[in-house]
Amino acid sequence: MHEDTRRWIAADKAHCWHPFTRQGDWCSMDHQPVVLVRGEREWLWDSEGNRYLDGNSSIWTNVHGHAHPRIHAAIRKQLELTAHVSFLGNTHPLAAELAARLCACLPAGTLERVFYSDNGSTAVECALKMALQYRMQTGEPQRTRFIAFADAYHGDTLGAASVGGVDRFTARFRESGYPVTRLRDVGELDRLDPHTIAAVIIEPLIQGVNGMRPWPRGMLAALRAWCDETNTHLVLDEVMTGFGRTGTMFACQQEEVVPDFLCLAKGLTGGTLPMAATLTTAAVYDAFLGDAHRAFSYGHSYTACALGCAAAMAGLDVFEEESTLARLRPMIDRMSEGLSRLKAAQPCVHETRQCGFIAGIEVRRPDGSPFPQDARVGEAVCAAARHHGLLTRPILDTVVLMPPLCTSPEALDLAFAALDRAISGIDMRAADL
Ligand SMILES: *Cc1c(COP(=O)(O)O)cnc(C)c1O
Repeated sequence: MHEDTRRWIAADKAHCWHPFTRQGDWCSMDHQPVVLVRGEREWLWDSEGNRYLDGNSSIWTNVHGHAHPRIHAAIRKQLELTAHVSFLGNTHPLAAELAARLCACLPAGTLERVFYSDNGSTAVECALKMALQYRMQTGEPQRTRFIAFADAYHGDTLGAASVGGVDRFTARFRESGYPVTRLRDVGELDRLDPHTIAAVIIEPLIQGVNGMRPWPRGMLAALRAWCDETNTHLVLDEVMTGFGRTGTMFACQQEEVVPDFLCLAKGLTGGTLPMAATLTTAAVYDAFLGDAHRAFSYGHSYTACALGCAAAMAGLDVFEEESTLARLRPMIDRMSEGLSRLKAAQPCVHETRQCGFIAGIEVRRPDGSPFPQDARVGEAVCAAARHHGLLTRPILDTVVLMPPLCTSPEALDLAFAALDRAISGIDMRAADL
């Protein structure tokens, strides 16, 4: 191991605190974290010179590949002018142009306002706060509840976490959040009294953190219809699904649904800089006009960061210049074929789930029973896959495969070969079988 690698790992273990991480395991002597130093297209390199396919798009953020020349040039060009200026009391060219461009991605006259923030959680926080304040200012202050779905994930800040349903992350803070009614499916809507409900929030087409689980076809359109009937707002959390990941620019387009609030983050800057946007309608926006106390008093220091806006504009350009979505179509089919082959070849592959260029591969014992959780088989599979050139992470025993949209057929084949070898290596004795 290089001296630099050793030094970086030592400093990390001495001072860093990683997200969603058991730090005791992380800091143990035998854990050698990958130190990533460089990226290009769908590939990443570590400090020892090993190359990996970025199998989860750097936690679902990267769209057009790493170090995309078009996006990097746009960031550099903006950097010549300024990295960041305040959006509080001022504006700047790229924030204005980007807002217009994001609205133009949706049907005319639907989502017309863009509120910028920094990450997926804050994009959701904004939508929830706007939805509540809207009711206070339109004569329905009793509509204070949110409907959310079981096992949903909407981020980690307190408000966003409270509409989440992944108990292992959020249960201990449940008392601190918004009042929420949790549903398993749209059928349960009929027995609800909508008069206390401000909005419904959902991850459209597929739940991400819940092990990449697609919803039934037509579910989103049915939800939109219920919202229309009951005058309830629909908040779509497209933090993961946005920007091409499901095969269309936004997931909601596949069911011709337009929400009242659209939350965007991860892929907004192509995966280069932290930035988010909450889009909403003129009807919502208008309720915030008038007296000072009606304004939306919310914001963050780095709102509409100029470098992020530059990256986002360039990312949208790349969709057009490279026909990203058209080129993705055969890759989505190739992913389906790879998943079928993997399932056929591997008795431990219990189920494969796919939506667009997002896949979850769930491993279980050959008899279909789950592995004991503390055997951490999903983690073991990903650790083994790393040695075969694929870098990804599991969600419990579901391995995530969702590389950047620019991934080549050969790279995708490499990912499946790596998974095949890694799953073959599951040690049944270590997994208590
Ligand atoms: C990642 C994610 C979030 C949270 O985004 P952060 O940028 O991590 O705060 C919210 N919703 C969904 C669906 C996500 O996948």
